[in-house]
Amino acid sequence: MKSPVHRCRDPEHGRGEHGRGDHGRAESRQESRAGYLQAEQRIPISKDIITSSSASAMWFIRDACGIVCAVITWMLVLYAEFVVVFVMLLPSKNLTYSLINGVVFNSLAFLALASHFRAMCTDPGAVPKGNATKEYIESLQLKPGQVVYKCPKCCSIKPDRAHHCSVCKRCIRKMDHHCPWVNNCVGENNQKYFVLFTMYIALISLHSLTMVVFHFLYCFEDDWTKCSSFSPPATVILLILLCFEALLFLIFTSVMFGTQVHSICTDETGIERLKGETGKWDKVPCWEAMQAACGGPFSLSWCSPFSGLRCERRPLEVLEEVPQGEIIEEDIIEIPLY
Ligand SMILES: [Zn+2]
Ligand SMILES: [Zn+2]
Repeated sequence: MKSPVHRCRDPEHGRGEHGRGDHGRAESRQESRAGYLQAEQRIPISKDIITSSSASAMWFIRDACGIVCAVITWMLVLYAEFVVVFVMLLPSKNLTYSLINGVVFNSLAFLALASHFRAMCTDPGAVPKGNATKEYIESLQLKPGQVVYKCPKCCSIKPDRAHHCSVCKRCIRKMDHHCPWVNNCVGENNQKYFVLFTMYIALISLHSLTMVVFHFLYCFEDDWTKCSSFSPPATVILLILLCFEALLFLIFTSVMFGTQVHSICTDETGIERLKGETGKWDKVPCWEAMQAACGGPFSLSWCSPFSGLRCERRPLEVLEEVPQGEIIEEDIIEIPLY
């Protein structure tokens, strides 16, 4: 391999090129004459060249705010569970109504919590930390015209469409956003679990809202003292709180679910839309992108937070593997055309 040409430039994929003045353009012409690459000739290294560091290992972000938000999420689901089971279903005289609604609600709540757990504890697609060494770049055997970007914050080689997350302190492949409610980034590897989480929360919210309405109607018709094992004021307060919670989360998670499905279908992440980076890569057709995000052809496993579950843990030395050599200083390394 020819030795890479080291030059310093804006590490965010050479976007600094476009805003440059006359001096910048003159410099660019000089460089092209000297055999360097112009911005439009550069080929960023494919996101598939660099694999995730710990795809099968347990992943957990130690962020106090995220942990508090994740615990609140679980508490809110458990509160809904408590009100649905102990205030509405158990005191009901209609056994079939209680049984069917109990099974449906508890199954959906379980799937919501399982999706949350998997979204939180799955590596979203972190790029190995500190691998920006000359030896590592040479081992990639890049072709002339390709360009390597280093993340100055985590000293990793940034594949195409990866972004640095300041909470996870890592570069994440196809990062969509960092969600404190799941205490993790939503990226290439855990987007499915995040989508399922929003879907199941929206479903249990809708289901509990319907049950609250039916329960109020039932209590108004019947004797308030008999429609719940709690006192009438306590019953009303518990039901109104559940009603607010369900309505709030139904709106929030439905919007989130729609946005995520739209992101998958259009093959654009939230960050890319925000930064105006869309249209810089070959878009994958909608159905293909859905299959890639959900882990295979359409089947029931698309709705399961358990599919793709790997229990094995890689040995620690593999996880913490530090590439040989010193971290390179430059943020952009171009492989010359000649
Ligand atoms: Zn980074
Ligand atoms: Zn993050």
